[in-house]
Amino acid sequence: MSLIIFAIPVFFLLIGIELLIAKMKNLSYYRMNDAIANLSCGIGSQVSGIFLKTFTFIGYTYLYDHSIWKIENNILTFILLFIGVDFFYYWFHRLAHEISFLWGSHVVHHQSEEYNLTVALRQAWLQGAFSWVFYLPLAVVGFSPGVFITIASLQTLYQFWIHTKLIGKMNPAFEYVFNTPSHHRVHHGVNPKYIDRNHGGTLIIFDRWFGTFQLEEEEVVYGITKQTNSWNPLWVNFEYWIDLFKEAFRVRKIKNFFLMMYKMPGWKPEELGGVQPLKEVTPQTFHKYDTEISGGLTNYAFFQFVLVLLSTTAFLVFQSKTPFQENWALKISIATLIVFSLVNIGGIFERKSWVLVLEYLRVVAVSVLMVLLLKNSSLFLAATIAMTILAVVSLLWFTKYRNEFTGKTSEYASTANI
Ligand SMILES: [Zn+2]
Ligand SMILES: [Zn+2]
Repeated sequence: MSLIIFAIPVFFLLIGIELLIAKMKNLSYYRMNDAIANLSCGIGSQVSGIFLKTFTFIGYTYLYDHSIWKIENNILTFILLFIGVDFFYYWFHRLAHEISFLWGSHVVHHQSEEYNLTVALRQAWLQGAFSWVFYLPLAVVGFSPGVFITIASLQTLYQFWIHTKLIGKMNPAFEYVFNTPSHHRVHHGVNPKYIDRNHGGTLIIFDRWFGTFQLEEEEVVYGITKQTNSWNPLWVNFEYWIDLFKEAFRVRKIKNFFLMMYKMPGWKPEELGGVQPLKEVTPQTFHKYDTEISGGLTNYAFFQFVLVLLSTTAFLVFQSKTPFQENWALKISIATLIVFSLVNIGGIFERKSWVLVLEYLRVVAVSVLMVLLLKNSSLFLAATIAMTILAVVSLLWFTKYRNEFTGKTSEYASTANI
């Protein structure tokens, strides 16, 4: 089982602690709609990882098997591999910020306009399809796939705790070598001087060496230059690429099409108006994307989200065991229902009219699938009764708030702040 899945309870414990401290200090670091959108992106990336990792692991293992060297596993080679993973992560991450097409695979991590531990889990669903290529030199020199996966997971885990505003600057010696909350806040900044700085994973030294380091000075404004304005985790994963291709297909010179894919995000040829200068921002002038729904509907969305979170965690744990193992049709059906659920929850926060139909469909589909999964088990009868009750309660609860989807915006106070 992946180390990341093992860490899920710790992630939520730390999120709870951060939320509590922020609340006690009267700091509004969390908004419900933003936090759920972040976590939805995280759930989706774990689910897409089931499919992506199968292919990327085969690629890495193939190169390792055909490598003329095999590096033995000891403490020294673990440290070397850790530095190697961090070095290639730095280059993937830097190029993902500097090449327009690749930015589409990473932008999701930067869309949140808050900065808290849930942002760490906001991961793009297709980033792994691009990043794995950068690590292949490690297979060629003979670092074994098993140890590589472990070290790469540790490097990802490290990056969790640096997504917080609660920790200020740390010991200067530590800040010099390692990536810290202060360095990484800069990385998430939309202030012109902070854009495309501090790409490091665990270490910050590569940024110092390769000229991309920036110290945290004025207050960071979080997000991306072209705001996302959506809580829909599926849409936010593809919006950038859709916009990029739409624009690129408008050019008349074919060379400009490729330049738009390859140059910095936001780069445009003269025929499309050229590059626009970056705007200065301050926390006072920056308007965060927000939506308003009633407290009752927020509770409903939160409850459904918790159910999706728990069932996805169970799926991630059991997906490599019977009856899921090798049953790709079943895995795809469950993954589709998870994404469908997350899209609906995002739609509820945006009060999209299509949710009115799709939420009924979703609740019924989830219940039917759960019952079918347990049809040969001793729990079948109990599960059928429990799922029927849950579905009826959910649908009655949701129906209570039907009128919030009719387009009248003025009658609900914002309940977003947690
Ligand atoms: Zn980044
Ligand atoms: Zn980050």
